[in-house]
Amino acid sequence: MIIKNRKVPMIIELEQAVLRRLLPPDHPKRTLIKNDLAKWESGFMGEESLNYYVDRLPQKHLHIFNDLRLKNGMYHFQNDCLLLTPHFTLIIEVKNYSGTLYFDTISKQFIRTIGGREDSFDDPIIQVEEQQEQLLDWLMTRNITSLPVDFIIGIINPKTIVEAHPDSQHIFQFILHLPHIKNEFLEVKSNYNEECLTLRELSEISGQLVRSHSPKVPDIHTPFGLKRSDFQRGVQCPNCLFLGMNRENRKWHCPRCYTVSKTAHLQAIDDYLLLINPSITNQQCKELLLLKDRHISYKLLSRSGLPFSGTNRGRVYYRAD
Ligand SMILES: [Zn+2]
Repeated sequence: MIIKNRKVPMIIELEQAVLRRLLPPDHPKRTLIKNDLAKWESGFMGEESLNYYVDRLPQKHLHIFNDLRLKNGMYHFQNDCLLLTPHFTLIIEVKNYSGTLYFDTISKQFIRTIGGREDSFDDPIIQVEEQQEQLLDWLMTRNITSLPVDFIIGIINPKTIVEAHPDSQHIFQFILHLPHIKNEFLEVKSNYNEECLTLRELSEISGQLVRSHSPKVPDIHTPFGLKRSDFQRGVQCPNCLFLGMNRENRKWHCPRCYTVSKTAHLQAIDDYLLLINPSITNQQCKELLLLKDRHISYKLLSRSGLPFSGTNRGRVYYRAD
């Protein structure tokens, strides 16, 4: 059963918000952010495609954690998918490479060839071994010392070819295309017969894993050199994306395509909470939505369903988790 679901990474939400709000429309950083967003979105879609195969594993006493980020001492480590059973733990790392992949574990080289061009990348085996070590360490600090931690590297693209040096053929035990994950899971399962965790211990560790999840809060301003003044205020039309819908008769009206919306301000408030400030007051909301009447922004905020703290004029609203 799924204990922790995968969420759209915050960096994707942030970059989408930047692209909605960035002024001027031909801002020099726009293309850079668009390309970066495409990279994150493709990575997320790849991780999501793993769900189909994990759903098909025998679910009895199987605890599934998607996109879990844990802290071990000074460092954080993140797993695309972690499977916890009473007998073993399995890390699944997914990779979205195209072309031909060549692994040489002797000279420690990992080369990707595509269109006749060879590129050397960070070795995913070293990466997943590092995660394995960190997880063993994390478990050990919780007095779980006998639970084996194994791993799989799942190749998403069915057309990607995986090759290995003759002395590195063992990699095919753990580097495989996603449709083979079930067989590999059953193989790993058959290797670990000893029950290392009671069902009670399983759910205890499961709870600790979820509570220890610490998602990364990305910084969008520094890497792209963006300032708060780069972002445009106003309510965006959900149809033609024009920024600056007008409030009339309790609805938002687009002066360009005449779309009418009751809820278009919610996106604007969310963009503000992502890009400008993690909390918003009534006054800030009034300025953001370009409203003349603070009673309207008060009503819109109080009906937004967003969590808040404080009372009356001191009330501030936050982004829902
Ligand atoms: Zn419009």
